[in-house]
Amino acid sequence: MEINKSLKLYNTFRVDCISESFINITSTTNLKKALLSNSFRNKFILGGGSNLLLTKNIKDLCLHINIKGRKIIKETSKSIYLEINAGENWHKLVLWCVENNYGGIENLAYIPGNIGAAPIQNIGAYGVELQDVFSSCMVMEKKTGKIEKFTLNDCEFNYRDSVFKNNYKNKFVITSICLKLSKKNHKFNLEYEGLRDEIENKDINLRNIFNAIIKIRKNKLPDPKKIGNCGSFFKNPIIPSNHFNLIQKKFINLPYFKISNNFFKIPAAWLIEKVGLKGFKKNEVGVHISQPLVLVNYGNASGKDILDLAHFVKNKIKKEFDIELEFEVNII
Ligand SMILES: Cc1cc2nc3c(=O)[nH]c(=O)nc-3n(C[C@H](O)[C@H](O)[C@H](O)COP(=O)(O)OP(=O)(O)OC[C@H]3O[C@@H](n4cnc5c(N)ncnc54)[C@H](O)[C@@H]3O)c2cc1C
Repeated sequence: MEINKSLKLYNTFRVDCISESFINITSTTNLKKALLSNSFRNKFILGGGSNLLLTKNIKDLCLHINIKGRKIIKETSKSIYLEINAGENWHKLVLWCVENNYGGIENLAYIPGNIGAAPIQNIGAYGVELQDVFSSCMVMEKKTGKIEKFTLNDCEFNYRDSVFKNNYKNKFVITSICLKLSKKNHKFNLEYEGLRDEIENKDINLRNIFNAIIKIRKNKLPDPKKIGNCGSFFKNPIIPSNHFNLIQKKFINLPYFKISNNFFKIPAAWLIEKVGLKGFKKNEVGVHISQPLVLVNYGNASGKDILDLAHFVKNKIKKEFDIELEFEVNII
């Protein structure tokens, strides 16, 4: 166990908080032992740190999930079932799948973080979500160390949401996931105009989609290695149609995505830009200049500085549009 370890390099906001007690977990046996340790009542689970904002030092036992490995557990003529352990890097998995002609996650290229956290918010990008290829995951109950299997239905996936953010929040550690991927006749998702434009005049295949996604993301999103950030800080709000109609009357060009006759999703980035906060900067923190969904740490901001900015943005949107923005990032 490491004592008083700085987590600055373990979170992509690059916030300097201390973990009073830190263990690198490399196997489920280690994990069970650590979870059942009586010295700490609570255990904090850390993956790649790309979706959390640390606002205080961690007094709980911090378990950095680093369980490696992957294997094909079943194969048919059309698909494979691939089991990947929680400590593997997500993007490296996508790359490996593209290299081996396994289809389904190429649109999710270049999302930072580890496998174990992917089901927590049902990661998604460019028209694809984890749930589209998800078969099951194995979890360990934090209280008992008992292993359980969660199927697709058990996970209750939704837009950036799952049972692990709701009823089972902080109850389980995800130790591996199983994905069903295609071996041939891949179903390419070119729903996004930007992706279609990028791939124009090229063959539509896994490699070209993968490369196009990386190019788009590199142009759009700040690199956490250069400027601390956690990608989108806010979820895109989903509002009822009567509320949507009121806003649309005022802003004819309001962008939206129709979820059903009764609900519409609005880009939070558009709302933030409309209240004049795109590129807003205060001391060491700010709203990114070209991607307003992203809050950034320009230097040595604390987690509280970033959280204060998040509330400032949220309050402005509430006041102007009567919309309650939800945080996508986990606040610790
Ligand atoms: C530049 C950038 C771009 C991004 N783009 C996207 C995007 O396009 N789409 C998207 O969905 N997300 C995106 N994200 C967010 C992030 O990459 C994902 O949410 C990712 O899955 C987080 O993985 P992680 O290992 O870093 O999780 P962490 O940040 O370490 O943890 C996130 C949460 O999950 C919990 N957790 C972590 N591992 C486990 C486990 N094994 N078992 C149980 N709980 C666990 C943690 O306690 C924490 O609450 C982006 C982030 C950045 C920095």
